Parts: sequence; structure tokens; C-alpha cells
Amino acid sequence: MAPKGSFENNFANYSEEAASHILNKTKDGNAIPYLDLENLKGRKISFLCGDAGPLALATVISYRLGSRKNELPDYKSLVQRLMALSSLLNDSPDEVLYGKSGYLFALLFVNKHIPGKEVIPSNHIEKAQPYISMIELRSFIKPTLEWLINHKFPSGNFPSSLGSGSGDRLVQWCHGAPGFVPLCLLAHKVFDDDNYLRIALQCGEVIWERGLSTKGYSICHGVSGNAYAFIQLYQATKKPVHLYRACCFMEWCALERPGTELHAPDRPASLYEGLTGRLYLAEDLLRVSEAKFPAFTL
Ligand SMILES: [Zn+2]
Repeated sequence: MAPKGSFENNFANYSEEAASHILNKTKDGNAIPYLDLENLKGRKISFLCGDAGPLALATVISYRLGSRKNELPDYKSLVQRLMALSSLLNDSPDEVLYGKSGYLFALLFVNKHIPGKEVIPSNHIEKAQPYISMIELRSFIKPTLEWLINHKFPSGNFPSSLGSGSGDRLVQWCHGAPGFVPLCLLAHKVFDDDNYLRIALQCGEVIWERGLSTKGYSICHGVSGNAYAFIQLYQATKKPVHLYRACCFMEWCALERPGTELHAPDRPASLYEGLTGRLYLAEDLLRVSEAKFPAFTL
């Protein structure tokens, strides 16, 4: 049930119904076996594509379940496994999807969801990536941002990747304007430069005009991910138009009109490709000021 004063609509029970649809497909409605901790390969360290994701989630779940019926190992042994992944740091890229930033996210995720304990010590977190100073932000990050922004199309959209021949075509979180919205809003906050806000708002217009992606409803390359760009614009500006747009995109995802998803997801229940991402969005819209793009922001 939506809290009083929040967005109310015809889909008040949407996430509950959709979630039970997924869980009823498993043998006993239990999602924990999907963590599959025994089959982790020990080769990749990130939250989204490596071992750190399942280990971080298992750590938090095991801690929360405590002495209740808990088929997971004790959370302290899971923390040890998570920290041992740092031996792979030197051979890992820097990026969030496969590398060090993704490992850093997993460590911060554990500390956030087990509050007051600093389960992962700060010296271990610094090993993953020392926090960047303001001087480094100005000397390296700002020029990189400017360089990226120079690649903007006249429409306000951005290329899907460097050297891509596909042109001004894709409008999705993983390729194009929607991913630039959180980047430019953060840059606006850090550097206090209105130009970044202007670019984020321009991306919002592109997403409103062209963001009903035919790839479907996922948060990675579908409509629910594009809805997050509107949530972020709403959080930054408090202008209701962005919240209205986010709700319209959510409604589109919930209705699933025939023919609007041309590429069915390979993993229909997954967070980034499937129904779980939509559920995350539906829940976030109930508490929109605290909403955060999952597995990317804390
Ligand atoms: Zn994608």
C-alpha cells in the first residue's frame, strides 16, 4: 500500500503481484539458492558481473537473518571471501561493470546495509580505490567530462560508444542520453556549474521524445531505466514534470502492451534485463526522494 501523500495509481499492488509471479516459479518460493555461492569462479571482482555481487548480497542477507533458519554461511565468513577478492585487483580494469569500481561498490554496499559496524574496514576499502581528491577531480575528471560532452549530437543525445557507426539512434541507460543524466547531475553538484544541469535537462527532453525503447522494459536498455533519468531530474530540480514523466514510463512498463517489447530478455527475472528492475522502479516511485538506480548508486 502506498504511503499517504505519495504517487497513487492503478498499479498499487503491481510489484507484489509481479514478484510473487517470479517466486512461484521457483520450487518453494525461496530466492536464496539463486545466489549459487558454491559455483563462483573467483575470476571477476565486480558487483554486477563478478563474485562480489552474490557475496555482498549473501553477507547482508545472512546478517539480517541472523540465528533464524538460515541456509547461508555465517556473514563473517562471507565477508572474508569478499575481502579475499582484492587479490584480483591488480589484474582488473577500473570500470564499474567488470572492475575495481564494481568491487568498491560491493564493499560500500555491505557497510551501508549493515549499519554501525564497519564490517568492511576502511583500510580495505582504500585498497580498492583511494577516494579521489578535489585537485584530481579538477585536473582529470573535469577535462574528461568536457571531452565526453563534446561528443553530444545536435539533438542532445550522445553516441552509444566511441567510434560507433550507429549514429544518433540509441536512447537507453547503457548507451546514450539516459546514462548522461546522473553523470551531468553529479558534475553539476560537484563543480557547481549550471552547464552540466542544462545538458542533463536536454537529455531529459530527448528521453521524453524517444525513450520508449523497443528493446523492452529493462533498466539497462529499456523503458524503466529511462524512467530513472526522470526521477534523477526530479530529485535535482523538484519540478513535477519530471516525476510525471517517470510515472508515465512506469505505467508503460506495467501495462506491457502487445508488440512494445521487440527483444525479450535472455534472463526474464534479472535486475538489469528483466522484471526485477521494473519492480525496483515501482518500489522507488513510492519513495521517490530516496530512489536510487540499483547496483550503481548507494
Ligand atoms: Zn543495456
